[in-house]
Amino acid sequence: MQFRDLKKQYEVLKKDIDQAMIDVAASSAYIMGKPVKELEAALAEYVGVKHCVSCGNGTDALTIALKVLGVGAGDAVFVPDFTFFASAEVISLEGAHPVFVDVEEESFNICAADLEAKVQQTIAQGQYTPKAVIAVDLFGLPANYPAVKKVAERYGLKIIEDGAQGFGGTLNGKRACGFGDIGTTSFFPAKPLGCYGDGGAIFTDSDEYAALADSFRVHGKGSFKYDNVRIGVNSRLDTLQAAILQVKFRAFCDYELDAVNKAAAMYTERLSGVVDTPVVPKGYYSSWAQYTIKLKDKESRDALQSALKEAGIPSMVYYPTPMHKQTAHAPYGPYADDLCPVATSLCNRVLSLPIHPYITEEDVEMVCSIVSKVAL
Ligand SMILES: *Cc1c(COP(=O)(O)O)cnc(C)c1O
Repeated sequence: MQFRDLKKQYEVLKKDIDQAMIDVAASSAYIMGKPVKELEAALAEYVGVKHCVSCGNGTDALTIALKVLGVGAGDAVFVPDFTFFASAEVISLEGAHPVFVDVEEESFNICAADLEAKVQQTIAQGQYTPKAVIAVDLFGLPANYPAVKKVAERYGLKIIEDGAQGFGGTLNGKRACGFGDIGTTSFFPAKPLGCYGDGGAIFTDSDEYAALADSFRVHGKGSFKYDNVRIGVNSRLDTLQAAILQVKFRAFCDYELDAVNKAAAMYTERLSGVVDTPVVPKGYYSSWAQYTIKLKDKESRDALQSALKEAGIPSMVYYPTPMHKQTAHAPYGPYADDLCPVATSLCNRVLSLPIHPYITEEDVEMVCSIVSKVAL
């Protein structure tokens, strides 16, 4: 069994993907070719914002977002303690100060009440200026943007939505990647919408931010390529990746998102009452980057993972270490042991099970039968 079966997906889409790749090879427009512009237009329309600026990967998308917002030395940026390292890494890379915020036990996403507490602490300490919050749509579920927005407005914070795992999710009918001042996503192969290498994108309604992002991704270009008006990066989406994404985006819209939601519903039906299953609150729709269950403690989690492994079923611990306990973040501490109790506890109890649009009912049954046997 595959954790995320990209090979199966390729078999289904092979004819169109092969043709798309051949067309790009024949066109010789390998950088910024027509498929890049077409994809950007299609994704902006889907997300429901004015602009999509594609780039090299999801981490660069976050880095460019911070550059666009002018985040740098002396600024505090708030980020959930329970996320993939890249969400926080980019803050330090820009010379700003990361402040870790606890998450909600149910949604795995940033806790607006703790965000407010951490902003107030930062203001009281007086060393850094609260500038932005990077809210993450973890495992495919959008964060609670109405609540995050209230805090952001109260303290003048910009919102960056890290939608690397969230693309395709919705909240009250509005699509993920469109909630922040800037939204970002990743097209890493295993993400909800993935390409065949690295890729990413930035989303915004602001003409000014879009123009800045477009400049930053090509060496801070000005009126033309060899007019450089700011220090930027080299981070473009390859034409080849854009062409592959055009094919995969059609499948994503036509049936993949629906199929992965059906798989998640099957899991939840079989596993409710057995383990803590993921909750999709009213008004939300998840793109199920992961299906993550919670066990009662680390011993039961690790025992279940071993039993699954023995049965040939892959599972993953996303994530084993909270951001404030990562070695690389030690210089930003020292951190109290109870800095983010929920995130710290989740790291010991979570387990992500195989899920993707092509998983069969038999596979889900097989996983659930082992979970039911071991977790009880
Ligand atoms: C994958 C991921 C990123 C980084 O995306 P890359 O394309 O791998 O650089 C950032 N944030 C989150 C939450 C992610 O899952």
